[in-house]
Amino acid sequence: MRQTEHAVPAIEFRHVSKSYGDFSVLQDLNLQIAAGEVVVICGPSGSGKSTLIRTINRLENYEYGDILIAGQTTRTLRQRQLQVLRAGIGFVFQQFNLYAHLSARDNITLALRQVLGVNRDDARQRADALLAKVGLPDKADHFPAQLSGGQQQRVAIARTLAMQPSILLFDEPTSALDPEMIAEVLAVMRQLTHTGITMLVVTHEMGFARELADRIVFMDQGQILEVATPEQFFTQPAHPRAQRFLQQIL
Ligand code: ADP
Ligand code: MG
Repeated sequence: MRQTEHAVPAIEFRHVSKSYGDFSVLQDLNLQIAAGEVVVICGPSGSGKSTLIRTINRLENYEYGDILIAGQTTRTLRQRQLQVLRAGIGFVFQQFNLYAHLSARDNITLALRQVLGVNRDDARQRADALLAKVGLPDKADHFPAQLSGGQQQRVAIARTLAMQPSILLFDEPTSALDPEMIAEVLAVMRQLTHTGITMLVVTHEMGFARELADRIVFMDQGQILEVATPEQFFTQPAHPRAQRFLQQIL
Protein backbone atom coordinates (compact mmCIF):
# COMPACT_ATOMS: atom_id res chain seq x y z
CA MET A 1 0.00 0.00 0.00
CA ARG A 2 1.15 3.51 -0.80
CA GLN A 3 0.31 4.91 2.57
CA THR A 4 2.89 7.65 2.58
CA GLU A 5 1.49 9.00 -0.68
CA HIS A 6 -2.01 9.02 0.69
CA ALA A 7 -0.87 10.83 3.79
CA VAL A 8 0.31 13.89 1.84
CA PRO A 9 -2.40 16.55 2.06
CA ALA A 10 -3.89 17.76 -1.23
CA ILE A 11 -3.61 21.32 0.11
CA GLU A 12 -1.62 22.52 3.07
CA PHE A 13 -1.36 26.03 4.51
CA ARG A 14 1.66 26.59 6.72
CA HIS A 15 1.68 29.85 8.63
CA VAL A 16 0.34 31.81 5.68
CA SER A 17 0.02 35.56 6.19
CA LYS A 18 -0.81 38.35 3.81
CA SER A 19 -1.33 42.10 4.12
CA TYR A 20 -2.64 44.94 2.03
CA GLY A 21 -0.47 47.73 3.37
CA ASP A 22 -1.19 47.90 7.10
CA PHE A 23 -4.24 45.70 6.79
CA SER A 24 -3.64 42.07 7.68
CA VAL A 25 -6.01 40.08 5.45
CA LEU A 26 -4.68 36.57 6.29
CA GLN A 27 -3.14 35.92 9.67
CA ASP A 28 -1.00 32.85 10.23
CA LEU A 29 -3.30 30.36 8.51
CA ASN A 30 -2.67 26.68 9.12
CA LEU A 31 -4.83 24.08 7.44
CA GLN A 32 -4.48 20.64 5.92
CA ILE A 33 -6.97 19.30 3.42
CA ALA A 34 -6.80 15.63 2.52
CA ALA A 35 -7.15 14.36 -1.03
CA GLY A 36 -10.82 13.85 -1.82
CA GLU A 37 -12.01 15.93 1.09
CA VAL A 38 -14.90 18.40 0.75
CA VAL A 39 -14.30 21.47 2.89
CA VAL A 40 -16.64 24.44 3.23
CA ILE A 41 -15.24 27.82 4.24
CA CYS A 42 -17.66 30.23 5.84
CA GLY A 43 -17.48 33.45 7.77
CA PRO A 44 -18.62 37.07 7.64
CA SER A 45 -18.12 39.25 4.59
CA GLY A 46 -14.59 40.64 4.50
CA SER A 47 -13.13 37.86 6.67
CA GLY A 48 -10.63 36.78 3.98
CA LYS A 49 -12.38 33.76 2.45
CA SER A 50 -11.84 34.80 -1.16
CA THR A 51 -8.28 35.81 -0.46
CA LEU A 52 -7.61 32.43 1.17
CA ILE A 53 -8.78 30.40 -1.80
CA ARG A 54 -7.25 32.75 -4.36
CA THR A 55 -3.83 32.22 -2.78
CA ILE A 56 -4.05 28.47 -3.52
CA ASN A 57 -3.44 28.84 -7.24
CA ARG A 58 -1.64 32.13 -6.69
CA LEU A 59 -4.29 34.41 -8.11
CA GLU A 60 -3.10 36.27 -4.99
CA ASN A 61 0.43 36.19 -3.66
CA TYR A 62 1.20 35.79 0.03
CA GLU A 63 4.12 37.26 1.92
CA TYR A 64 4.74 34.74 4.69
CA GLY A 65 4.44 31.01 5.10
CA ASP A 66 3.87 28.44 2.42
CA ILE A 67 1.08 26.69 0.59
CA LEU A 68 1.82 23.16 -0.57
CA ILE A 69 -0.17 21.36 -3.22
CA ALA A 70 0.27 17.59 -3.00
CA GLY A 71 3.40 18.27 -0.98
CA GLN A 72 4.91 20.72 -3.46
CA THR A 73 5.59 24.29 -2.41
CA THR A 74 3.87 26.99 -4.46
CA ARG A 75 6.04 29.76 -3.07
CA THR A 76 8.82 29.63 -5.56
CA LEU A 77 6.97 28.64 -8.73
CA ARG A 78 7.99 30.33 -11.96
CA GLN A 79 5.50 31.36 -14.59
CA ARG A 80 5.59 28.09 -16.52
CA GLN A 81 5.22 25.95 -13.36
CA LEU A 82 2.41 28.22 -12.23
CA GLN A 83 0.53 27.42 -15.46
CA VAL A 84 0.90 23.70 -14.75
CA LEU A 85 -0.32 24.19 -11.18
CA ARG A 86 -3.34 26.19 -12.34
CA ALA A 87 -4.24 23.62 -14.99
CA GLY A 88 -4.71 21.07 -12.21
CA ILE A 89 -6.77 23.33 -9.95
CA GLY A 90 -10.23 24.35 -11.13
CA PHE A 91 -11.66 27.68 -10.00
CA VAL A 92 -15.36 28.51 -10.14
CA PHE A 93 -16.17 32.18 -9.57
CA GLN A 94 -19.24 33.94 -8.29
CA GLN A 95 -19.58 35.79 -11.60
CA PHE A 96 -19.09 32.72 -13.87
CA ASN A 97 -16.48 34.53 -16.02
CA LEU A 98 -17.54 32.93 -19.29
CA TYR A 99 -16.34 34.43 -22.56
CA ALA A 100 -19.36 36.35 -23.91
CA HIS A 101 -18.34 35.95 -27.55
CA LEU A 102 -18.01 32.15 -27.35
CA SER A 103 -20.73 29.50 -27.30
CA ALA A 104 -21.10 27.25 -24.27
CA ARG A 105 -19.23 24.54 -26.16
CA ASP A 106 -16.41 26.85 -27.23
CA ASN A 107 -16.05 28.19 -23.69
CA ILE A 108 -15.29 24.61 -22.70
CA THR A 109 -13.09 23.62 -25.63
CA LEU A 110 -10.91 26.74 -25.53
CA ALA A 111 -8.56 25.71 -22.72
CA LEU A 112 -8.70 22.07 -23.77
CA ARG A 113 -7.32 23.02 -27.16
CA GLN A 114 -5.00 25.85 -26.15
CA VAL A 115 -3.62 24.53 -22.87
CA LEU A 116 -3.87 20.75 -23.26
CA GLY A 117 -3.51 20.62 -27.06
CA VAL A 118 -6.59 18.42 -27.52
CA ASN A 119 -7.72 18.25 -31.16
CA ARG A 120 -10.95 19.89 -32.31
CA ASP A 121 -13.10 16.74 -32.53
CA ASP A 122 -12.00 15.30 -29.19
CA ALA A 123 -12.42 18.66 -27.46
CA ARG A 124 -15.90 18.98 -28.92
CA GLN A 125 -16.84 15.49 -27.76
CA ARG A 126 -15.57 16.15 -24.26
CA ALA A 127 -17.40 19.48 -24.11
CA ASP A 128 -20.68 17.95 -25.20
CA ALA A 129 -20.34 15.08 -22.72
CA LEU A 130 -19.70 17.57 -19.92
CA LEU A 131 -22.64 19.75 -20.92
CA ALA A 132 -24.81 16.65 -20.69
CA LYS A 133 -23.32 15.88 -17.28
CA VAL A 134 -24.30 19.32 -15.91
CA GLY A 135 -27.79 18.94 -17.38
CA LEU A 136 -27.36 21.16 -20.44
CA PRO A 137 -27.17 18.74 -23.38
CA ASP A 138 -29.08 21.11 -25.67
CA LYS A 139 -27.20 24.34 -24.92
CA ALA A 140 -23.87 23.75 -26.65
CA ASP A 141 -24.45 26.40 -29.31
CA HIS A 142 -25.92 28.99 -26.97
CA PHE A 143 -23.97 32.07 -25.99
CA PRO A 144 -23.76 33.14 -22.34
CA ALA A 145 -26.25 35.98 -22.85
CA GLN A 146 -28.81 33.40 -24.01
CA LEU A 147 -28.45 31.38 -20.81
CA SER A 148 -29.80 31.97 -17.31
CA GLY A 149 -27.35 32.62 -14.48
CA GLY A 150 -27.74 29.06 -13.23
CA GLN A 151 -27.08 27.68 -16.69
CA GLN A 152 -24.04 29.93 -17.12
CA GLN A 153 -22.63 28.72 -13.83
CA ARG A 154 -23.15 25.11 -14.87
CA VAL A 155 -21.28 25.81 -18.12
CA ALA A 156 -18.51 27.36 -16.03
CA ILE A 157 -18.35 24.22 -13.90
CA ALA A 158 -18.27 22.04 -17.03
CA ARG A 159 -15.43 24.17 -18.39
CA THR A 160 -13.50 23.68 -15.19
CA LEU A 161 -14.13 19.91 -15.17
CA ALA A 162 -12.87 19.65 -18.75
CA MET A 163 -9.35 20.20 -17.45
CA GLN A 164 -9.74 17.16 -15.16
CA PRO A 165 -8.53 19.01 -12.09
CA SER A 166 -7.63 17.17 -8.91
CA ILE A 167 -8.71 20.19 -6.86
CA LEU A 168 -11.79 22.36 -7.33
CA LEU A 169 -12.11 25.77 -5.68
CA PHE A 170 -15.48 27.50 -5.52
CA ASP A 171 -15.87 31.13 -4.45
CA GLU A 172 -19.53 31.72 -3.61
CA PRO A 173 -20.71 29.94 -6.76
CA THR A 174 -24.39 30.58 -6.08
CA SER A 175 -24.27 34.07 -4.57
CA ALA A 176 -25.03 35.85 -7.85
CA LEU A 177 -28.01 33.60 -8.62
CA ASP A 178 -31.72 33.98 -8.13
CA PRO A 179 -33.03 31.55 -5.52
CA GLU A 180 -34.68 29.21 -8.02
CA MET A 181 -31.34 28.71 -9.78
CA ILE A 182 -29.29 27.99 -6.70
CA ALA A 183 -30.62 24.45 -6.38
CA GLU A 184 -29.61 23.41 -9.90
CA VAL A 185 -26.03 24.53 -9.32
CA LEU A 186 -25.87 22.89 -5.91
CA ALA A 187 -27.15 19.67 -7.48
CA VAL A 188 -24.19 19.66 -9.88
CA MET A 189 -21.83 20.34 -6.99
CA ARG A 190 -23.42 17.55 -5.00
CA GLN A 191 -22.62 15.10 -7.83
CA LEU A 192 -19.01 16.25 -7.72
CA THR A 193 -18.64 15.46 -4.05
CA HIS A 194 -18.86 11.78 -4.95
CA THR A 195 -16.06 11.84 -7.54
CA GLY A 196 -13.01 11.99 -5.29
CA ILE A 197 -12.03 15.51 -6.40
CA THR A 198 -10.78 17.62 -3.51
CA MET A 199 -13.27 20.47 -3.09
CA LEU A 200 -12.86 23.74 -1.24
CA VAL A 201 -16.09 25.72 -1.28
CA VAL A 202 -16.70 29.22 0.02
CA THR A 203 -20.45 29.44 0.45
CA HIS A 204 -23.27 30.74 2.60
CA GLU A 205 -25.37 27.71 1.64
CA MET A 206 -25.41 26.09 5.04
CA GLY A 207 -27.68 23.29 3.83
CA PHE A 208 -24.99 22.23 1.37
CA ALA A 209 -22.33 22.57 4.07
CA ARG A 210 -24.24 20.51 6.56
CA GLU A 211 -25.11 17.75 4.13
CA LEU A 212 -21.94 17.44 2.07
CA ALA A 213 -18.91 18.93 3.80
CA ASP A 214 -16.46 16.66 5.53
CA ARG A 215 -15.29 19.68 7.51
CA ILE A 216 -16.23 23.33 7.99
CA VAL A 217 -13.65 26.09 8.32
CA PHE A 218 -14.88 29.25 10.01
CA MET A 219 -12.97 32.47 9.34
CA ASP A 220 -13.21 35.93 10.82
CA GLN A 221 -10.92 38.93 10.41
CA GLY A 222 -8.29 37.03 8.49
CA GLN A 223 -8.04 34.16 10.95
CA ILE A 224 -9.24 30.58 10.98
CA LEU A 225 -11.13 30.46 14.25
CA GLU A 226 -12.63 27.01 14.04
CA VAL A 227 -12.32 23.80 12.03
CA ALA A 228 -14.99 21.24 12.79
CA THR A 229 -17.24 18.57 11.36
CA PRO A 230 -20.65 19.87 10.23
CA GLU A 231 -22.18 17.96 13.13
CA GLN A 232 -20.01 19.81 15.65
CA PHE A 233 -20.13 23.15 13.91
CA PHE A 234 -23.89 23.39 13.53
CA THR A 235 -24.86 21.91 16.87
CA GLN A 236 -22.14 23.18 19.19
CA PRO A 237 -19.74 25.66 17.60
CA ALA A 238 -16.85 26.24 19.96
CA HIS A 239 -15.91 29.82 19.13
CA PRO A 240 -18.21 32.65 20.29
CA ARG A 241 -17.84 34.39 16.93
CA ALA A 242 -18.91 31.22 15.13
CA GLN A 243 -21.92 31.01 17.44
CA ARG A 244 -22.84 34.62 16.64
CA PHE A 245 -22.33 34.05 12.90
CA LEU A 246 -24.63 31.03 12.92
CA GLN A 247 -27.31 32.87 14.91
CA GLN A 248 -27.29 35.61 12.28
CA ILE A 249 -27.55 33.41 9.22
CA LEU A 250 -29.61 30.42 10.29
P1 ADP B 1 -14.39 37.66 1.95
O1 ADP B 1 -14.24 36.85 0.69
O2 ADP B 1 -14.40 36.83 3.19
O3 ADP B 1 -15.58 38.57 1.89
P2 ADP B 1 -11.99 38.99 1.02
O4 ADP B 1 -10.94 37.96 0.99
O5 ADP B 1 -12.60 39.36 -0.29
O6 ADP B 1 -13.10 38.58 2.08
O7 ADP B 1 -11.42 40.33 1.63
C1 ADP B 1 -10.89 40.39 2.94
C2 ADP B 1 -10.56 41.80 3.25
O8 ADP B 1 -9.50 42.25 2.43
C3 ADP B 1 -11.71 42.79 3.05
O9 ADP B 1 -11.71 43.68 4.14
C4 ADP B 1 -11.36 43.48 1.77
O10 ADP B 1 -11.86 44.80 1.78
C5 ADP B 1 -9.85 43.46 1.80
N1 ADP B 1 -9.29 43.44 0.45
C6 ADP B 1 -9.52 42.51 -0.49
N2 ADP B 1 -8.83 42.77 -1.62
C7 ADP B 1 -8.13 43.91 -1.36
C8 ADP B 1 -7.20 44.70 -2.12
N3 ADP B 1 -6.85 44.37 -3.37
N4 ADP B 1 -6.67 45.79 -1.51
C9 ADP B 1 -7.01 46.11 -0.26
N5 ADP B 1 -7.86 45.42 0.51
C10 ADP B 1 -8.41 44.32 -0.03
MG1 MG C 1 -15.44 36.71 -1.00
